[in-house]
Amino acid sequence: MTAQVIDGKAFAAKLRERVGEFAATFAEKAGRKAGLAVVLVGEDPASQVYVRSKHKATLAANMESFEHRLPADTSEDDLLALVARLNADPAVDGILVQLPLPDHLDEQAVIGAISPDKDVDGFHVTNAGRLAVGQSGFVPCTPLGCMMLLTDRLGDLSGLEAVVIGRSNIVGKPMAQLLLDANATVTIAHSRTKDLPAVVRRADIVVAAVGRAEMVKAEWLKDGATVIDVGINRLPPEPGADKGRLVGDVDYAGAQAVASAITPVPGGVGPMTIAVLLRNTLVAAYRNEGLNLPEDAL
Ligand code: NAD
Repeated sequence: MTAQVIDGKAFAAKLRERVGEFAATFAEKAGRKAGLAVVLVGEDPASQVYVRSKHKATLAANMESFEHRLPADTSEDDLLALVARLNADPAVDGILVQLPLPDHLDEQAVIGAISPDKDVDGFHVTNAGRLAVGQSGFVPCTPLGCMMLLTDRLGDLSGLEAVVIGRSNIVGKPMAQLLLDANATVTIAHSRTKDLPAVVRRADIVVAAVGRAEMVKAEWLKDGATVIDVGINRLPPEPGADKGRLVGDVDYAGAQAVASAITPVPGGVGPMTIAVLLRNTLVAAYRNEGLNLPEDAL
């Protein structure tokens, strides 16, 4: 068997296009564009790249992008004051504070200050709680993107065995909640799990969100499993190269011979994250204006 490649890049491009169409309709109805504010504190190079690509993607989707770049030594009071202004600004539908924040800033306090109805990253405890009890709120972008790829591929997930490796608040836990909501039988594995290969072998669906290059081996997988690889890891450079290859948490080449479908790295889950961020921002805009976005639109 050779696994089908789940093309997250193509799926994300289509989602962004649909978001762009609905965003144009929103602008006509509301008399303004949907707006996303992104706050970057400091000069972390990876964060700068993310913020730049979010800015470009937001504009390309017919939405307004408000960038706020603050120096690394910004005080927590100043950052909270900016968040309060954005909460109160009717042109801003979604607020994203780029993580990680410099060490002197309390991430939980800052995320907790964002209005839950503008928390398009879905990291606020109110949104985590809404997801846990099945109320509509905002779901973190990466796991929601994984879920879109899974339902597109498998349709109904009822009764399937799903194993999520990793229990972070931004990927593993919300991923498990979404799978549970879709009636899968869900196991969350983590760094203290005993006999991880045996746990993974039960799974019809494996979601790997660990951050360890090629940790999940082909022999761990059940025949025909669907594999979603969230991990992004850079290998050490080959002799003569200045950068190593990007790989996921799954041994991709090996898994291709066992799985029925798998997301590549890069080009799988990664591109979904920004597309879902735009989707969440548009949903926020429709809600903020009291306009109706068809339930299955995006
Ligand atoms: P994290 O470090 O917060 O969490 C990692 C999790 O892996 C922990 O819950 C830990 O218990 C578990 N773990 C660690 N070692 C383990 C082991 N040996 N066996 C089993 N479980 C183990 O990471 P995160 O923020 O959830 O991100 C995970 C990975 O996903 C990273 O590679 C990150 O770069 C990537 N990521 C990708 C996207 C995307 O857009 N594609 C978004 C977010 C994160």
